[in-house]
Amino acid sequence: MSALPSNASLPPLAQPVQELRGVGPERQAQLNRLGLFTVEDLLLHRPRRHEDRRHFRTIAELQLDEPGTTRGKIVALGLKRYRSGTRSIFEIILEDGTARLHCRWWNLPFMQNYFAAGDEVFVFGKPNSLKPRTIDHPETEVIEGGEESFIHVNRIAPVYPLTEGMPQRWLRSLIWRTLEQFGAAIDEPWPELRKPGVKDAAGPAAQYRRLPSRAEAIRALHFPQAMEDLEAARRRLALDEFLTLQRDIQSRRRKFEAKARGLPCAGDNRLMKPFLHQLGFQLTAAQTRVLRELRRDLSGAHPMRRLLQGDVGSGKTLVAACSALMVLESGYNVALMAPTEILAEQHFQTFRKWFAPLGISVELQTGSYKSEIGNRKSECLVVGTHALIESGFALERLGLAIIDEQHKFGVTQREKLLRKGNYPHLLVMTATPIPRTLGLTLYGELDLSVIDEMPPGRGRLKTFVRTADKLPKVWAFVREQLAEGRQAYVVHPRVEETAGGLKAVTTEFANLKTVLAPHAVGLLHGRLKSSEKEQVMAAFRANTIKVLLATPLIEVGLDVPNATVMLIENAEQFGLAQLHQLRGRIGRGAHDSYCILVAAAKNPESQQRLKVLEETTDGFRIAEADLKLRGPGELLGQQQSGLPNFRFGNLAEDGGLVELARELAAMTLAGAKPS
Ligand code: ADP
Ligand code: MG
Repeated sequence: MSALPSNASLPPLAQPVQELRGVGPERQAQLNRLGLFTVEDLLLHRPRRHEDRRHFRTIAELQLDEPGTTRGKIVALGLKRYRSGTRSIFEIILEDGTARLHCRWWNLPFMQNYFAAGDEVFVFGKPNSLKPRTIDHPETEVIEGGEESFIHVNRIAPVYPLTEGMPQRWLRSLIWRTLEQFGAAIDEPWPELRKPGVKDAAGPAAQYRRLPSRAEAIRALHFPQAMEDLEAARRRLALDEFLTLQRDIQSRRRKFEAKARGLPCAGDNRLMKPFLHQLGFQLTAAQTRVLRELRRDLSGAHPMRRLLQGDVGSGKTLVAACSALMVLESGYNVALMAPTEILAEQHFQTFRKWFAPLGISVELQTGSYKSEIGNRKSECLVVGTHALIESGFALERLGLAIIDEQHKFGVTQREKLLRKGNYPHLLVMTATPIPRTLGLTLYGELDLSVIDEMPPGRGRLKTFVRTADKLPKVWAFVREQLAEGRQAYVVHPRVEETAGGLKAVTTEFANLKTVLAPHAVGLLHGRLKSSEKEQVMAAFRANTIKVLLATPLIEVGLDVPNATVMLIENAEQFGLAQLHQLRGRIGRGAHDSYCILVAAAKNPESQQRLKVLEETTDGFRIAEADLKLRGPGELLGQQQSGLPNFRFGNLAEDGGLVELARELAAMTLAGAKPS
């Protein structure tokens, strides 16, 4: 066994890869390209797959179109060039005593450098013909004898992601040797969790102990004894990732609570009472419960940090208004930030209507519209867009910052808004029903309130998936709805992205006006000037425009209860969660509503996906489905760059592990008494 590398000041696993035997400058550059800089990186380099090299198929046993591993000896090989040398095909022919196998590579002439007649070769791939047996572009590895051959054959062998110029065998040997050399230096990160407790057979620490040790898991990640060991190893390493993150989240929260005092903002009901009285309807039980949670926070020792989750249309705005009133009653100001000008404008109008009679001034701050900020004499609510976090904007005595449609903002923007005050309370609201796993990961430092009930008196909402050839029928239906006095949204994807796309929506606009005449059609997209957007929205709200042709810009927040039709073209282009948000623009009034998803006829798979929306209006179920189908990045949109990159953890599958990590994190931070 070689001595420890020379860079002795660093802990063993932090040693740079170039300290390892056999890693010169060229190999170092290749490893770095793969993101592997330290011994630990190398130990955690996850194999793409494993190959059971204890059992092979003979060449004769290979089946058409079925992936399989086999081995054989090269009996012939050659490179043919054609089209005056611009194209080539390289072929090797293997034999194993049962049959011959042709392996072919197109336009990769350098492949000939890797093989010689007489070589023994592993081949992994899918035969695309049996006469003769042929695999195109298989994965291959020449079997070499010598002292390290046991690393590569007669075992379950890892197959790694590589980079140009790096042979599979070389990396496998390097990782093997690194495991031999450093395996003993792989410590348990939280040893206290692995000490058996007295009576904790079912507790979180006991669950943790049932998984392999970290050292065992890392070894099995590369060289498992059995294929079944792989998943246990992955789970252990995933749990460590989640646990690291949860500890981060929880210790940040503890530090925050240690230094920040909460402003006394529970209010005295002097505004709330008359407000609720004139509202004309009752709060739902869920709204009332959430308000109680908020009031407790607003009078608590630490500033509130709360996420309010409620499906589209569940009435989050009203909850925001009531919490704002508590703060205003307490003599502090409130800021409400929304992601689009249209939504900020709508909130501005709603809150002005609600608060003006109470003598509370409501102001608007957007890129294009700024209220006069003078010396405010009494408490106020400022509604705005990103303009609220610009350096020019200031608000004294900020007691509460509310962020609507929080998923459209990043963490930095949230922090910027908070910095406008001195530890104000924070309420963030989202209608994207985030599956719990994601919520704990992204918003772990926030407390969670959920509105799980819709206000009463809503019409039914039906959803239909239709192919584009049914559009004439669909238009006839829309005309019927319009004739009954209802309004409609028509949404096209991505119309604002390219000049060509923009032209498409303008053409569509003319077309739609003809198809739906005499009903007035308005056009709304991101390239319009703010004043134009406002005009169109105002006309739609006032019911002079009957149909709004729009981009997904309208996805968030809009509340026009008379609109009962949501027609989405090219619906297959959207994620399910986003479609659910769009659908949330309708079904807000007493009339029945209809969401029609028009999908390209040629894609039955995406139609199948859209059926989920026909079957349920439960946003949480839809988000779960979306998470499974498209992964967290797609579900949350690129705004959520805050999502950590897990090597082993999979947020769509590992719900239980995330929960476990949260409990374990709390235990370790509390001084870790086992369960
Ligand atoms: P979201 O949760 O999607 O932001 P909104 O706050 O826009 O939903 O509310 C949707 C609609 O429901 C609004 O028109 C609002 O006035 C109405 N609403 C909210 N709460 C109630 C309630 N308790 N009873 C009846 N209608 C309500
Ligand atoms: Mg809303």
